[in-house]
Amino acid sequence: LQTQLTQAQKMESVGRLAGGVAHDFNNMLGVILGHAELALQKARNKQNPCSNLEKIQTAARRSADLTKQLLAFARKQIIEPKRLDLNHTVEKMLSMLRRLIGEDIDLSWVPARKLWPVKMDPTQVDQILANLCVNARDAIAGVGKLTIETGMKTFDPGYCADHPGFIPGDFVMLAVSDNGCGMDQEILKNLFEPFFTTKEIGKGTGLGLATIYGIVKQNNGFINVYSEPGRGSTFKIYLPRQHSFAEKTASAVHSEMSIPP
Ligand code: ADP
Repeated sequence: LQTQLTQAQKMESVGRLAGGVAHDFNNMLGVILGHAELALQKARNKQNPCSNLEKIQTAARRSADLTKQLLAFARKQIIEPKRLDLNHTVEKMLSMLRRLIGEDIDLSWVPARKLWPVKMDPTQVDQILANLCVNARDAIAGVGKLTIETGMKTFDPGYCADHPGFIPGDFVMLAVSDNGCGMDQEILKNLFEPFFTTKEIGKGTGLGLATIYGIVKQNNGFINVYSEPGRGSTFKIYLPRQHSFAEKTASAVHSEMSIPP
């Protein structure tokens, strides 16, 4: 199963953003108010209100997480694109990612032996990886396997004509695969929509993939998703190859020279 998000779908989903935030916050506030009421009653009756206070704390923390993700999604982040070797960027993140996914999940790192550079903000790569790995962890929900892989791909226009969503050119690929629960057509259709989540209220914000989509578009890349219910999922992120200054100059000279006299 493969999915692509059209511009129209994207616009539609941005339109639902405000409603989604209000809904999620209302749920959290409901939890906080309910437990505050119970805690007060208990305190007045000289009972221990600790369990309610803990629930208030958890709900408030989740609200704070939601705000943070929402800000990251909505704000025009100041980005500082740099020339990057994605292998290095991933390697720097590995120990953090291992902690994030826990000991029950076996993480394999399969770097391409050679990789073209890309030009992007390294914190955006970190954001992509962290979000994809959290989703893989949640999809596995126990013991399983997660693989991070890099590669180089060239798509020619003929191939792209047959495969809508692919863009012709040289791309660096970053893939995250899991052997978790996988996704059906219905989930795949809504995957990148802000606030689309199948996770329990408070556990998922539905902003992870919408954020990734925004970052990848900003960097002129594209995403492909392969998934099968019960078997697992693979997210492939393609980022355009950054040509070195020397290569650009060489090709400019080359094209100048090929102009007929
Ligand atoms: P959230 O993780 O907060 O729910 P996301 O935008 O990151 O938000 O993901 C949206 C939904 O897509 C998830 O709730 C889940 O249903 C589905 N999903 C994302 N990644 C995976 C995955 N690797 N395996 C199965 N389902 C996934």
